[in-house]
Amino acid sequence: MTHHLDGNVLAGALSEVFRADVTSARARCGGCGRMAMIAEAVVYTDAPGLVARCGGCDQVLATIVDAGDRLILSLAGLSAVELRR
Ligand SMILES: [Zn+2]
Repeated sequence: MTHHLDGNVLAGALSEVFRADVTSARARCGGCGRMAMIAEAVVYTDAPGLVARCGGCDQVLATIVDAGDRLILSLAGLSAVELRR
């Protein structure tokens, strides 16, 4: 039997992630596997939002769109993010 909880159990861990300065975090590109600080990403600001690309293979790592009353974040191009405590 599989035991599971709903997403509310993530609240504590995610609040720790989203309050940290993520520019000093290290992240792994889902395309080439390169591990680098997020601050080393190549960021384009002339899109409808911010687009961060891998400095190794140019894959889109993350997008951030300011939609007024919402902030839409995608980290779909990252396979891992490593934060220091
Ligand atoms: Zn890459």
